[in-house]
Amino acid sequence: MFEIQKPTAIQELKSELLQQKQIRLFVKREDEIDSVISGNKFRKLKYNFIKAKESGITKILSFGGAYSNHIHALAYAGNRYGLKTIGIIRGERIEPLNPTLKDAEDFGMQMVFVNRETYRSKNMDSFLNDLRKQYGDIYIVPEGGSNVLAVQGCTEIIEELNEEFDYICCSCGTGGTLAGIICGLAGVKNVLGFPALKGGEFLKKDIGRLIFEYSDKEFNNWELIPNYHFRGYAKFDWDLISFINDFKSEFGIPLDPVYTGKMMFGVFDLLRRDFFSKGTKILAIHTGGLQGIRGFNERFGNLIK
Ligand SMILES: *Cc1c(COP(=O)(O)O)cnc(C)c1O
Repeated sequence: MFEIQKPTAIQELKSELLQQKQIRLFVKREDEIDSVISGNKFRKLKYNFIKAKESGITKILSFGGAYSNHIHALAYAGNRYGLKTIGIIRGERIEPLNPTLKDAEDFGMQMVFVNRETYRSKNMDSFLNDLRKQYGDIYIVPEGGSNVLAVQGCTEIIEELNEEFDYICCSCGTGGTLAGIICGLAGVKNVLGFPALKGGEFLKKDIGRLIFEYSDKEFNNWELIPNYHFRGYAKFDWDLISFINDFKSEFGIPLDPVYTGKMMFGVFDLLRRDFFSKGTKILAIHTGGLQGIRGFNERFGNLIK
């Protein structure tokens, strides 16, 4: 289950800027991890599915917004690996369903729409117990999939590498993926996290907690770069959109506007500002999320080519 046939590819980017700065930049194509699930959500679900199956639980429940990559991946994985899935979705059901939720329903997910206030109790024991009463024996995965088993899955991003990089760069939502990368490196090299949302202080604590939970250690070879969230989750400006479209035509790699586009924009901006010294080797993790482009284009008018 969840066997990834071969390590995801690492692609070197070549450009005048990189040559001029004498920096080598590589992208790990986690977006190509599976033909349907694009990216890190596959890694994050792997050990959760294994545990649910081992415990004999047949239903897995989680939480997400209407465009959630996590919900999409969960629904698909449930369909493919034989677990029923229940998605607690923030907001009202709006017909027709957007492409993310339409897929999730087609994959067989039972979707339950709750108002924002109810959704906010997603981590409270009383709410989780109510859900258990209602849905029976369920395996609950938190929003975004970030628990200690997700961290374990994401350490494998690093285990797959067979060369060294000075910096690993990755987009952050809940920070589970970054925590896995940090644990995988076990204190060597440098890790930069690019939050896709505002509110970096909470995130920093959450990541520290996940790292400690998984490894019983604290590491200090990582930092969050808070300047590239473009005012918040799913917010954007024209610079970001042009960057994403230019990046695809220059390097042939699609980026999503919520996570990977912002991270890569940040990496290039830091490059221009000489954040990295000459001779540095950088690995940027393409965490996927490409399914979200359809919904983004539907809402905002085909901005992403
Ligand atoms: C969810 C997601 C992230 C963030 O992962 P976290 O583990 O929540 O930090 C980054 N990139 C993409 C494409 C995602 O879907």
